[in-house]
Amino acid sequence: MVADLHLHTNFSDGTFSPEELASHGKRHGLAAMSLTDHDTVEGCPRMAAACASEGIEFISGTELTAELKGIEVHLLGYGMDLENKKLLSEVARFQAVRQNRIHEMVARLNRLNVPLRAEAVFEIASCRSPGRPHVARALVKAGFCGSLDEAFERFLKVNRPAWVPKCKVSALEAMNLIHQAGGVAVMAHPGLNRTDEIIPEIVEAGLDGIECFHTKHSTATSHHYLQMADQFHLLVTGGSDCHGLNKGKPLVGTVRLPYHHVEKLKSKVAERRAALAGPQSALHPSH
Ligand code: AMP
Ligand code: ZN
Ligand code: FE
Ligand code: FE
Repeated sequence: MVADLHLHTNFSDGTFSPEELASHGKRHGLAAMSLTDHDTVEGCPRMAAACASEGIEFISGTELTAELKGIEVHLLGYGMDLENKKLLSEVARFQAVRQNRIHEMVARLNRLNVPLRAEAVFEIASCRSPGRPHVARALVKAGFCGSLDEAFERFLKVNRPAWVPKCKVSALEAMNLIHQAGGVAVMAHPGLNRTDEIIPEIVEAGLDGIECFHTKHSTATSHHYLQMADQFHLLVTGGSDCHGLNKGKPLVGTVRLPYHHVEKLKSKVAERRAALAGPQSALHPSH
């Protein structure tokens, strides 16, 4: 039994609907899937239903963009209560920042004599959590760039002329947000962000797990983070980070996390939920 716990849909910058994603998961024989769209949990109820109809276990998820000491860290949250008020109001705030950033990137493009309209980006994004890939798709669709890669290379990559830095929440705040919603916080693709130097501090602050298996991790990189997980007593997770059909063949199901890691993750979620409920509810269970 295997799982893919890092996936995106069109509720952020993926191209698949939750139903399409679940159907790919079924074809790859996944026993469990999570949906980790950027700064949102909005797609989770539909993904849960789609997984249920395919006979796949679903774990609620999100991927929050955060930072610690100026280093960007993506924090995966798993197992949160999707109706948690604080979680919903905070992600709405992150989404407003993302929407403003689209306007800023478009303004920069306009100053570079690329007359893209923000509405064209929002139309393509058609979600509350838009990002650079949507700007890239709009640039290609309007004929200003020949490919998504060209759009990133010319305009959107870090320090390129239309790039706008993202205003990020602190990693500690992001982890607290996940924890108070009953979830566990996992550092995404540490091999991409070169975050080793901040791992001890972020663990001290409550990190629960680390994504050892990821599309862009080599075998050696995965092994390195498995050792770190062991050293710091962290949960081990993994996922493909599939964004749909953006770049050729979809990645869903290509990273296969052994199910025993999912079991440990679920136990940790149950522990956190019990701790949040407090000793009162354990002594006096409501019937
Ligand atoms: P954002 O959250 O708006 O900063 O956009 C980040 C997303 O853009 C990532 O999740 C990737 O999916 C995508 N991305 C980042 N860099 C590139 C690149 N050089 N080429 C294509 N996609 C990229
Ligand atoms: Zn993405
Ligand atoms: Fe990420
Ligand atoms: Fe991702």
